[in-house]
Amino acid sequence: MKCLVKNESAVGLTLKEKEKPSPKDNEILIKVKKAAICGTDLHIWNWDSWAQEKIKPPMTVGHEFMGVIEEVGKKIKNFKIGDRVSVESHITGTKSRNARAGKLHLDPDTVNLGVDTDGAFAEYVKVPESNVVPLPDSVSDEVGAILDPFGNAVHATLSFDLVGEDVLITGAGPIGIMSAAIAEHVGARRILLTDVNDHRLELAKKVCSAELLNPTNSSISEKMKDMGLKEGFDIGLEMSGSEFALRDMVDNMIMGGKVALLGIPSKEIKIDLNKIIFKALNLKAIYGREIYETWYKGLALIDSGLKIEEIITHRFKFEDYKKAFDLLNKGKAGKVILSWD
Ligand code: NAD
Ligand code: ZN
Repeated sequence: MKCLVKNESAVGLTLKEKEKPSPKDNEILIKVKKAAICGTDLHIWNWDSWAQEKIKPPMTVGHEFMGVIEEVGKKIKNFKIGDRVSVESHITGTKSRNARAGKLHLDPDTVNLGVDTDGAFAEYVKVPESNVVPLPDSVSDEVGAILDPFGNAVHATLSFDLVGEDVLITGAGPIGIMSAAIAEHVGARRILLTDVNDHRLELAKKVCSAELLNPTNSSISEKMKDMGLKEGFDIGLEMSGSEFALRDMVDNMIMGGKVALLGIPSKEIKIDLNKIIFKALNLKAIYGREIYETWYKGLALIDSGLKIEEIITHRFKFEDYKKAFDLLNKGKAGKVILSWD
C-alpha cells in the first residue's frame, strides 16, 4: 500500500510503498477514504524542535480521517466489513487511575496515532476496535475526516456554560472558527473572533457570524465597547498559542471569567500571574477531547443543524501532498483534505 512517511530526520514527507497491515484479534483494518492535514502534521513536515523530539522515523503520519472497514480481527463483534467509520486518534491505556475511572482523555499512557505509532496518511490503517467511531449517514465523508479537530473545538467550547454569555476567541484557525460556530449554535450572546491573518478572518465569515477583528490593526478593548460589553468577556477560548493573544485575552476578561486554553505555544511564554489572580479567572487547559463524550456531543451538534463543512477549503489527491503542505505553510487554507479513494 502507499503511505506518507517521515522517513528521515529532515523537512518533508516521503510517499512510500509498505506492506498492508494485518489486524490483530481486537483490531480493525480501515481503508482510508479522506484524511485531513492537522497543524501537528505541519509541525512534523517542517521538522521543528517539537517534531524532532517526538517523532521516531520512519513513521507514517496522519490522524484525522474517515474510511470504510476492510477487515476485522477475530474478536470483533460490533463492526462489520463496509461500515463507514472515523477514529479517535488517542489510543489510551487501561491501567492508570484515570483510565480505570473512565477518564480516558487523562490517561498518561496514551499513544497518538500518526505521532507515536503508524497513522492514517495511508491506503490502510489498523486501529483497536475501541477507537473506531461509526459515522451516521448524515455526516459526509469530508466532515467525517475532520471530526478530530472538530472534537477539540467541541471539548474546549462546551467546557463552560455559554448560554447568553459573551465569548472571546483568539485564533481563527480551523479550530477557533469551528468553536465560534459552536458557541453561536448553543446560544452564546456576543462572540468576537480574532486573528492576525486576514485570510483566516475571511474564511470565518463562511462558517460563523461572529464579530471579527485583526488585533494588529485595532484593539480588542475598543471593539468590546463597540459590541456593547461593559465589563469584559465572560468566556475566553485561546486557540492561537500566541503569547500576545493570551495576554490580550486576560486583559479583556470580566472578573471571575472562564478561559479555556487550547492553543499550543511554540515556546515558553510569559504572563503576569497577578492579572489572572486579581481577576479571579478560571483557567482550564484542554488536551484532546473527552473520549467518547465529545464524539457524542459533536455528532449531536451536527445532527441538530450545526454546519462546519465550509471550513474545508481545499482537496488534493494524496499524490499531490506537497502542494497541500505548501498551501498550509503559506497560511492560505482552512482544512485541507487528502483523498485516498
Ligand atoms: P492554526 O495554527 O491553523 O490556527 C491558529 C491561528 O492563530 C492562526 O490562524 C494564526 O494566524 C492565529 N494567531 C496567531 N497569532 C495570533 C494572535 N496574536 N491573535 C489572534 N490569532 C493569532 O491551528 P488550529 O488547527 O486551528 O489549532 C489551534 C491551536 O490549537 C493550535 O495552536 C494547535 O496547535 C492547538 N491544538 C491543541 C490541541 C490540544 O489538544 N490542546 C489539539 C489540536 C490543536
Ligand atoms: Zn489533529
